[in-house]
Amino acid sequence: MASDFYQLLEIERDADAATIKRAYRRKARELHPDVSEEPDAEERFRRVTEAYEVLSDDGRRATYDRYGEDGLRNGGWEPQFANFGSIADIFGAFFGDDRFGGAGGGAAVAGGRGEDVQVAVDLEFREAVLGADRTLDFTTAGTCDTCDGSGAATPDALRTCETCAGQGAVRQVSRSIFGQVVQERACPRCGGRGQTISDPCGSCGGSGEQPEQRSVEVGIPAGIQDGQRIRLTGRGGVGHLGGPSGNLYVDVRVRDDERFVREGDDLITVLDLTIAEAALGVLASVPTVDGEPRELEVPAGTQPGTRMTLRGLGAGRLRGGQARPDGQVDRGDLVVYCNVRVPRDLSPEQRDALARFQSLEDDRIYRDREGIFDRLRRMVKP
Ligand SMILES: [Zn+2]
Ligand SMILES: [Zn+2]
Repeated sequence: MASDFYQLLEIERDADAATIKRAYRRKARELHPDVSEEPDAEERFRRVTEAYEVLSDDGRRATYDRYGEDGLRNGGWEPQFANFGSIADIFGAFFGDDRFGGAGGGAAVAGGRGEDVQVAVDLEFREAVLGADRTLDFTTAGTCDTCDGSGAATPDALRTCETCAGQGAVRQVSRSIFGQVVQERACPRCGGRGQTISDPCGSCGGSGEQPEQRSVEVGIPAGIQDGQRIRLTGRGGVGHLGGPSGNLYVDVRVRDDERFVREGDDLITVLDLTIAEAALGVLASVPTVDGEPRELEVPAGTQPGTRMTLRGLGAGRLRGGQARPDGQVDRGDLVVYCNVRVPRDLSPEQRDALARFQSLEDDRIYRDREGIFDRLRRMVKP
């Protein structure tokens, strides 16, 4: 990755403060480890944060422009973000929102996001290829029936909070690597809801929540792969006292199939031919994941490793994922590799027949005009 701070943030050397801030915000959101799937996202995130820390400060920026990063470090500068507990804390400090974590597993602050729920689903190979519907049953936080989520025993038991005057938030000014930061924090007294409860609901103890059995229908898209995760935004636990609901994450596991392997959107199968079939040609029957086998014309003289393609009989194309106007899903291909089996346990009669064939064969019948590279290419990679 680039090591120049301007390049890291993808900005011009004369970029103004607002541009730098925007660039950092964009990069940070893109690289946040909760969001990015790239393995080095955290390291890159740290680097762009360093870049931002330097370029957003006029003094440090001037030093950097003249003497570079070494000059800064020789001058005693060190990245400050290490003082923050976690990357989520940096986001909290800078962006003032909890979209990048914090809410999950933390204390139930009013207005906080509900818990994320993870459910694993096992699919047959065919279901992953063609798509499937599943009903997922799980337990998570739901709205308390007794108080309808207010947390109070009676509507009169809700009072305006005196600490925050009903605002739900208190302001706190602190110094950080980003300069002076005014942070809005949830009011410690009312937990951010702006109201206090003099008489909490007896069923939920004031949380407004109760465990809930959920049953969620999930349409699993054709073409999903083992290890992929589906996010259903807002289908997790109910938000804390008015906050947004958490997400439901579905972790997909796919069973193997004895007949096919996946290669991206394509399925690969192997068609076994006898020596006679390969030499004389045959109308072969090829299994498909759809159920009905397909007939495939294998021409006379087919060589081992020959590859034939049945269009549109592969896995759903997840990326192009839009359904076509006719409602069908675009699919990859079924690739058929021909294998020629050589018999091992011949009867005396069969051995005689082959020996007779051997006495009749000569080099010309093989028409072997391919060189070693052509043959290897055909067998190893089409
Ligand atoms: Zn309640
Ligand atoms: Zn308050």
